[in-house]
Amino acid sequence: MTDFSETKRLFSLPEGMIYLDGNSLGPLPTAAKDRVAACVQDEWGEMLITGWNKAGWMAQPRGLGDRIGRLIGAAPGSTVLGDTLSIKVYQALASALELRPGRKVILSDNGNFPTDLYMADGLARSLGQGHRIETPAPEDVAARIEAIHDDLAVLLLTEVDYRTGRRHDMAALIRAAHKVGALVVWDLAHSAGAFAVDVSGADADFAVGCTYKYLNGGPGAPAFIYVAPRLSEHVRPALSGWLGHDAPFAFDLDYRPGDGVDRMRVGTPPVLQMAALEAALDIWDQVDMEALRARSVALCEQFIAGVEAACPDLRLASPRDAWARGSQVSFHFEHGYAAMQALIARGVIGDFRAPDIMRFGFTPLYIDEGDVDRAVETLTDIMAHRLWDRPAYHTRAAVT
Ligand SMILES: *Cc1c(COP(=O)(O)O)cnc(C)c1O
Repeated sequence: MTDFSETKRLFSLPEGMIYLDGNSLGPLPTAAKDRVAACVQDEWGEMLITGWNKAGWMAQPRGLGDRIGRLIGAAPGSTVLGDTLSIKVYQALASALELRPGRKVILSDNGNFPTDLYMADGLARSLGQGHRIETPAPEDVAARIEAIHDDLAVLLLTEVDYRTGRRHDMAALIRAAHKVGALVVWDLAHSAGAFAVDVSGADADFAVGCTYKYLNGGPGAPAFIYVAPRLSEHVRPALSGWLGHDAPFAFDLDYRPGDGVDRMRVGTPPVLQMAALEAALDIWDQVDMEALRARSVALCEQFIAGVEAACPDLRLASPRDAWARGSQVSFHFEHGYAAMQALIARGVIGDFRAPDIMRFGFTPLYIDEGDVDRAVETLTDIMAHRLWDRPAYHTRAAVT
């Protein structure tokens, strides 16, 4: 059982701030400051090139990958870090498409995060094999799998919708896709660290995700990729970089894929970012994921009940059923951008997603019931007195 009042003390958050945006960028684990400083001074500064061996930099993408693996139900040796999530989406999709030659449809949904769809579109164009991308409404995906049938190459879905928090039934969709002979790539951007994922139990083929959201690895932290062990010796990694080679330091002129998921590595890993992520995973190693989920559900329910009782102008955009949600709650409000700026000005940090969604992430590692009460009170005050209606709050910044 995890003591969440203990984990809260392990993060550095500005005094008085209630941070409900850990679904977008997780806060700083206090230990990351010393860990990164030590990596800079003792490893880079003192060891220089020998750090690749002595400090274990070269092995970290696999070692940290296994620690993330526990959170997503992946067996040791099936998850590796590197690059950004957009790149890993491309790589997983390219590898999957190659395993299903002749099939032409990539099925996603219209709630997917744009970069996943952009990467799929770019890949389809580069391949020039006539792949088409279909994006039905999320609730119509299961029916489309049936309808497309043996032309379906790959189902490419994000488990939790970044705007509404709606969660797909991963296991059921994998069963349906496998039944028609298709492969499935899951984007776990809003799942990893939000609740226990079980890629092995659900029989996922590929899964990818980022480490700077719920996992708290810091801005620019590397992405991860999981490949089912039954596939990993057969996939071509598509991005065939030297660190995915069987023997990078043989400097052969021909590419030969490395063992299993190692072949999904591309180039030099981000050592300073991995140091920060390591400090974050030291916290995650202690966390019971079932306890985390129970607490996340309780915090979300508390927020929904509080806001619905006091703010009639806000309309719930997330599923009401806790099982069908990730670890965020979203509300529609016509002036959502301005209302969010007013909240941020008072130290309650959420974010806004066009056209009218106010988004709040609930992360039990450092958010408790008192924070939820204060967030509800602040939002209630802003709504009741129209405090959002000031010119300064209507001016859009580059990052919303
Ligand atoms: C956050 C997010 C991304 C971001 O991709 P980057 O390459 O890390 O910028 C991609 N896909 C989904 C579903 C996301 O939520």
